[in-house]
Amino acid sequence: MKPRDRLRIAMQKSGRLTEPALDVLKRCGLTFRQSRDKLFCFGEGEPVDLLLVRDDDIPGLIAQGVCDLGIVGRNVLDEFKGVAGDAAAALTEWRPLGFGRCRLSIAVPQDVDYTVPKDLDGLRIATSYPGLLGQWLRRNEVDAAVVTLAGSVEIAPKLGTADAICDLVQSGGTLVANQLRETDVLLQSEAVLAGPDTLPTDERGDMIELLLKRLDGVIQVRE
Ligand code: ATP
Ligand code: ZN
Repeated sequence: MKPRDRLRIAMQKSGRLTEPALDVLKRCGLTFRQSRDKLFCFGEGEPVDLLLVRDDDIPGLIAQGVCDLGIVGRNVLDEFKGVAGDAAAALTEWRPLGFGRCRLSIAVPQDVDYTVPKDLDGLRIATSYPGLLGQWLRRNEVDAAVVTLAGSVEIAPKLGTADAICDLVQSGGTLVANQLRETDVLLQSEAVLAGPDTLPTDERGDMIELLLKRLDGVIQVRE
């Protein structure tokens, strides 16, 4: 791959993390000229550009070296690391960013008896996070079937395609609306600044260090 001299940060194009991510970058003194196709935003002051993509693609773009950093939910980063294995092990959370907070939880229909993970033995669990769920099931020695769904996980029990779910929860309102009860938290998540665990040794590395320093100031001010 051709070496780049400008830093490239991947972030969500359109979703929950988009506005707060732009806001935190702005507080770090970065401004961008919005391009027409909105995939690529050119940085005006500093040599830092943005790539606007689906959040699920962000860890892969960093792992491939297409982007130097990414702003992504810990849930997406950890799922990628779990599923992609060694190739992704070198991806690190550089900073937690304090927004996009949610948790990845198991939930069961309200009328189901549940006290311990073993109660899930023999059941089907719907999720968009098969890697993280699989790890948790193995750790708890639960023998359950994982049903991988891209979306609308919370309605799977009502549709009869699963007996329980493993999904992101923020307020719990969606669970209640679907007569589900949260039982176990697998992961506490928030948006993080992710990158390779060793910094590039060129100007991009210097720019990352500067950005981290500014970010620490911004995060302290927020707390
Ligand atoms: P994309 O089109 O980029 O794939 P998406 O539908 O996967 O979008 P969003 O729903 O915008 O993504 O969520 C982005 C991130 O926001 C999640 O990965 C998670 O880290 C965080 N988040 C916070 N609260 C919630 C919630 N209640 N439900 C889903 N995600 C949440
Ligand atoms: Zn997504």
